[in-house]
Amino acid sequence: MTGGPRAGPPTQQQDLVLRHEHRLTTLALEVLRLLAKPQEDVDRLVADQLEKNPALLAAGPRRCRWCGLSLVDGRCRACGGPVGLMAEPPAAADERDEVRLVARQLAPRGCERAVDVVMAGLDARGLLPGGLAELTPQGCAPAQLAAGLRAVQEAGPPGTAAPDAAAALLAQARWHAAHGGPPLLVPLLGDHLAAFATDRAAAAAALGVGVAEVDAVARFVRARLTPAPLPSGGGPRHPAPPDVILRAQDGEVSAVVLRPDDLGLALAPDGPGRGWQTARAEARSLLDVLDRRAGTLQRLADVLAHRQRGFVLHGPAAHRPLTRAQVAAEVGVHPSTVSRAVAGAVARLPDGRIVALADFFGGAVSARAALAAMLGSPRPPRSDAEAAARLAETGVVLARRTVAKYRRELEEGS
Ligand SMILES: [Zn+2]
Repeated sequence: MTGGPRAGPPTQQQDLVLRHEHRLTTLALEVLRLLAKPQEDVDRLVADQLEKNPALLAAGPRRCRWCGLSLVDGRCRACGGPVGLMAEPPAAADERDEVRLVARQLAPRGCERAVDVVMAGLDARGLLPGGLAELTPQGCAPAQLAAGLRAVQEAGPPGTAAPDAAAALLAQARWHAAHGGPPLLVPLLGDHLAAFATDRAAAAAALGVGVAEVDAVARFVRARLTPAPLPSGGGPRHPAPPDVILRAQDGEVSAVVLRPDDLGLALAPDGPGRGWQTARAEARSLLDVLDRRAGTLQRLADVLAHRQRGFVLHGPAAHRPLTRAQVAAEVGVHPSTVSRAVAGAVARLPDGRIVALADFFGGAVSARAALAAMLGSPRPPRSDAEAAARLAETGVVLARRTVAKYRRELEEGS
């Protein structure tokens, strides 16, 4: 220490510190912002930093990003495959060209050119409007074009080269339903698409399920499906791993949120020069904010696992009323932090289903589900009073006024 604070312009040292603090703040703000984004956006930030910053290392992940189990030789024995750090390689320079090259390999011999023709026919969303009929064959036989189309659909993200957005969404629904997504996705985006889009109560009635379940599927669709499966110039659109993994053992539910070291992210050993120190400080601050983000999500998920144990194990009928403010108080954070963390985040349930974290909140979800099921049943109640009486028989006690309110909300599809 030499003397008191200096007046005048900052020294080079002070300037470095100031610039560094500014960077930390910017990165911290970015991660705070990322708390509101799905996992894939966080992954993109990490991938970007891994590429730019030599002081940040990616060793192999230690735990499975899909189910949370410890990996053995880089493989998950539950999910049965190798698990990379990212859900997919970081945004390839040209994802379309990669799809084209893979499709050429998948296509039967002699159909490589047809693959190129199909790829060239894709619109900006990655769809093939009108299907093969609209393509200029450019010397390819119809059978070759058909084989080329199949190869492109297989090589691209689900929904690629579908003839329209509805078909693309249905293809994604099938993929998700086969990979742990809600089974209702397929009927809702298939046979009942019109009702699903305009009148959820009618869609629920047609399928004999509660409106709450249909609402949950709608949220899943918003979070996970896209009408542009292979956008030109855009990043990859593969499904990202869940933000929160819920596990069940002996009737208890526990939550797992992976931390940076679970993902194999680490600080590189010391390197030479001043530039290296800056890089290292930046890498450390990234690991720190990622860890804090994971810590916040973990505390939140612990409360949700405890409060909504029944919902996790048995579905909407066992849902308990829960507000963001209640959870915020229990976690010890501001309600807006809970809202940010919940928005866009998804959890994997013990049975493999993926649900929005927002589904854990809300009042009277089970009562609404029971009322929706009754309204959609072959013998709907003739009045709100009758509905209230029938609900009371099943242990759900609601005032007639409340029944009327829920019924109106269900009818409005809210
Ligand atoms: Zn796994």
